[in-house]
Amino acid sequence: MPATHTLTDGRTIVLHIKRNTCTHLIVRPRDGGSIYLGIPPWLPEKEWRRWLAAHENVLQDILAKGQARPRTAATAQQAAPESIWLYGRPHALASHDAADIRIVDECILLPQAAWPEQQQRLRQHLYQLAAADLLPRLNDHAQRTGLHPAATALTRAKTFWGVCRPHSGIRLNWRLIGAPPQVADYVCVHELCHLRHADHSRAFWALVDTHTPHTAAAKQWLKRHGSELFVLG
Ligand SMILES: [Zn+2]
Repeated sequence: MPATHTLTDGRTIVLHIKRNTCTHLIVRPRDGGSIYLGIPPWLPEKEWRRWLAAHENVLQDILAKGQARPRTAATAQQAAPESIWLYGRPHALASHDAADIRIVDECILLPQAAWPEQQQRLRQHLYQLAAADLLPRLNDHAQRTGLHPAATALTRAKTFWGVCRPHSGIRLNWRLIGAPPQVADYVCVHELCHLRHADHSRAFWALVDTHTPHTAAAKQWLKRHGSELFVLG
C-alpha cells in the first residue's frame, strides 16, 4: 500500500516516498493526484506528516504543477517501446488491422489496441515462442552433453536467467527468447552443468567451457542488454 495524505478538502493524495540521503524534505510534482516525496533518513514520520499538514498551500501548488505536466513518469512507462529484442535482433513494433500478431522480417505487427493490452498479448505470444524454442534447445543440449535434468520448464522470474535444482530440474527465463541463440545456448549449458557442480567453482566453469565456446560473449551480451529483455515486464 502506498502512503497517502489527506488534504483539508477531503481529497486523498498518494505519496511516492523515497527515503534518500538528502538533508531536507523534497517535494516534487508527479501528477494531479500524487507527489514525489524525498525524506531524509533521520526525519521521523510524525515530523514529515506534520510538515505536510502545515504546508497544504505548497502541496496544492505541486499538485497543480503535476496536473499540468504533459506526461508523468507513470504514463511514460505505459508508452510502447519502438522496438523489442527477439532472437537477438531488435524488432520494430507496429499495429495492423488483423486480429493476430504477425512477425514479418524484423517487424512485429500487433492488433490495434491501447499499449497495455498490446503489451499483454505480445508477452503471451513471446512466451509461446519461448516454449517452442528454449525448451527444445535445452533438450538438445541435454542430449548432446549427456546431462539430463529431472524436468524442464520456463519461468517468469525477474531475478535470474535460469535455475537448476536436482529434483525440480531446470527452469529458463522466457525472456531469453529476446537474446541471440548463442546466449540462450550458453544459459542452457550453464544450467545443465549445475547438475554436475552445484556451485560456480573452477570445475564448474571448466565443464561449461567444454560444452560451449560462447561463455564470455554471452555474459557480455546479457550484461549489456539483459535489462532490455524486461521491457514487456
Ligand atoms: Zn549458475
